[in-house]
Amino acid sequence: NTPLHELDPAVAAALDAELERQQSTLEMIASENFAPVAVMEAQGSVLTNKYAEGYPGRRYYGGCEHVDVAEQIAIDRVKELFGAEYANVQPHSGASANQAALFALAQPGDTILGLDLAHGGHLTHGMRLNFSGKQFQVVAYHVDPESGLVDMDEVERLAKEHRPKVIIAGWSAYPRQLDFAAFRRIADETGAYLWVDMAHFAGLVAAGLHPNPVPHADVVTSTTHKTLGGPRGGIILARSKEFAKKLNSSVFPGFQGGPLEHVIAAKAVSFKVAASEEFKERQRRTVEGARILADRLTAEDARAAGVNVLSGGTDVHLILVDLRESELDGQQAEDRLHEVGITVNRNAVPNDPRPPMVTSGLRIGTPALATRGFTAEDFTEVADVIAETLKPSYDAAALKARVKALADKHPLYAGLNK
Ligand code: PLP
Repeated sequence: NTPLHELDPAVAAALDAELERQQSTLEMIASENFAPVAVMEAQGSVLTNKYAEGYPGRRYYGGCEHVDVAEQIAIDRVKELFGAEYANVQPHSGASANQAALFALAQPGDTILGLDLAHGGHLTHGMRLNFSGKQFQVVAYHVDPESGLVDMDEVERLAKEHRPKVIIAGWSAYPRQLDFAAFRRIADETGAYLWVDMAHFAGLVAAGLHPNPVPHADVVTSTTHKTLGGPRGGIILARSKEFAKKLNSSVFPGFQGGPLEHVIAAKAVSFKVAASEEFKERQRRTVEGARILADRLTAEDARAAGVNVLSGGTDVHLILVDLRESELDGQQAEDRLHEVGITVNRNAVPNDPRPPMVTSGLRIGTPALATRGFTAEDFTEVADVIAETLKPSYDAAALKARVKALADKHPLYAGLNK
């Protein structure tokens, strides 16, 4: 029972430094969040030791009576949270959930229709180097270059022309809500299955701040660690049990072996949290914070610095900053914000003139800061710091001090430092 700091000081030092980094900087990567201590406790528990191939009540190993309880709680809670009749909580990650879902609905060689990666889609929605792009015929839809909104006329036209087996609705970088009913209609008219990947906005759905895709889609996948605020992992949901057998066998034994029962227990805890009033209030601040950012970065002085916000605003937990008219590219803007203590990621804008490793945009999200307790007033200050940092000349020391004051005002994981 030697503690980590004694057994392995090198790894312990990396963990300590990462805790310090999370505490002292402002985390604005849209796909990140801070898991509650109780979630990390479950994830760091003895359940990591248990083999449990199979599903609750039908395992291939003995001694599963307790992990069965934890996994069944996770299943029941997530079904209730999203109004689903089917849930699988075993996927190790969002990408694993997507792989299992896609292979349950389609065969290699079939056509799939998803949002282009460069327009906000995810790797698993048909990117050339991903399993989805290598094993399926990919047709991509796009956002309209003027409005920044998904072009539903194009979705309909491509669906009618290519008759995909699966239409994918979902995104990694898109600041608006998708019209799930319109996707459903197009899927029905063209004989396609509709798969919604709600990895990014699942927390907003749980809080009732975003339309729920479950009633519309054949299958819904998600991560559990973004807006949903749980441990790193994936889930698969469906409105009915129609695909239950196929989905279950696609996850195990199709793609995975033993489930991560410690992570599943942590998922169960996070689903309890996600059903609470406190969680709803946090998601409201998340969306409010993103709106405050969008407003500040569309103000006259930001525009004068060449900063624009794609689609002109946001309905969700993130904004996409367009730097095509700025003297900064995405990499330089990311570096500058890093210098003052704000972590974001550069992001391609549609039809980006710069290469993917540089880009002409930023994706900035509010979930982690909302979890940290940031109010509208705090987000107003953050937005101002970002706007000032992206101007041609900026006072790094003064901006750093403002970031530090915000971090100090909202302590994170107090008591966890060694
Ligand atoms: N789906 C979407 C829409 C995502 O944005 C992501 C992660 O960025 C994933 C799936 C993949 O999740 P993971 O990183 O857990 O594999």
